[in-house]
Amino acid sequence: MADSYRVLYIEDDENNFFLVRRTLEVLTNVEIVHAATALEGLKLAKECSPDVILMDIQLPGMDGLELTRKMKKEETLKDIPVLALTANVMKGERERAFDAGCVEFVAKPFSLRQFRKLVAKHLGLDLP
Ligand code: MN
Repeated sequence: MADSYRVLYIEDDENNFFLVRRTLEVLTNVEIVHAATALEGLKLAKECSPDVILMDIQLPGMDGLELTRKMKKEETLKDIPVLALTANVMKGERERAFDAGCVEFVAKPFSLRQFRKLVAKHLGLDLP
């Protein structure tokens, strides 16, 4: 088991990032890295080798699902679990997220506690 973990959160809305960072704060050995655009996210994913990627679906320019598909084609990134996050669920979006290669689909409003458990699960951490 690793001593520390890194979560990359690709999200254009800073407030969502702050909320999620606060939610995951109890996981003291987890560092959260933020990217505000898909391209920045792709670059950071390659640089910081995250254990889990949290992917906002609605990003300006390249959206989160397109970015996920791109990552799944990259040898160094394809095995990192991608958890999709979305604010407004459109018809068929859950299916599209799984088709793109996401392992989870989290739609707002969601329980912060459940969300934390989900992230911990994909990091291989046990939460009480
Ligand atoms: Mn967004």
